[in-house]
Amino acid sequence: MRQICPIPAFNDNYIWLISKDNQAAVVDPGDAAPVLTILAERNLELAAILITHHHRDHTGGIDRLLAQWPRAKVYAPAAERLPAAGALALQDGDRVTLDALDLTLQVLAVPGHTLGHIAYYGEELLFCGDTLFSGGCGRLFEGTPEQMHASLSRLAALPNATQVYCTHEYTQANLAFCHAVEPHNPELQDYLKKVAKLRQQGIPTLPSSIAREKAVNVFLRPHIPAVRAAAQHHAMLELNEDYQVFAALRRWKDAF
Ligand SMILES: [Zn+2]
Repeated sequence: MRQICPIPAFNDNYIWLISKDNQAAVVDPGDAAPVLTILAERNLELAAILITHHHRDHTGGIDRLLAQWPRAKVYAPAAERLPAAGALALQDGDRVTLDALDLTLQVLAVPGHTLGHIAYYGEELLFCGDTLFSGGCGRLFEGTPEQMHASLSRLAALPNATQVYCTHEYTQANLAFCHAVEPHNPELQDYLKKVAKLRQQGIPTLPSSIAREKAVNVFLRPHIPAVRAAAQHHAMLELNEDYQVFAALRRWKDAF
């Protein structure tokens, strides 16, 4: 039986631990210490490290994990500075087969937050790094709004049941923004209440799902008339294309 659980790191990062029997993989280990603790507690062997993009809070733990688990394979985006010697460089369309976990993941190029950012998808599981958050999306540090809009549209086209494993617990703040944009969305109102309850108890709000994100996340909803109207009103511009609405929402959120 395969299990996936979040390992909290820093202020609001999650390092996702995928395990089966005594084998494990981690996604975006920014810090080694909490990962080593859980591996030891659960008697797990580290078989693989999956990286979505080059930022330090997603890669900082690689060297220390490899020092402890030299046989672990590192998978990382080909188009970014490789975080570790010997990492397997991945591009769009590649497949990652994790035999130890009985899991095959497909590589999706999702530029925007960084230019070489990739996501891993398979068996209705999505590990999307800092591209899609629950109720939000990553900041555009390297890419253009067109690129990020295309990347998010690609993720939104995955099956509704897909579980979305984001790498930050930003949900509550993101939903406050979604609510400012779309105050009359009933699904958003319900989700806001649910998330507030979870956070009060210190429970992670993740994973989310593609169905939920399409229903509540304004960054996946630039084609919805109410979202477009709010973005136009805020930007005081006529916005004809979905990516322009997306760009206006991203600028609005940056200053929110
Ligand atoms: Zn990042």
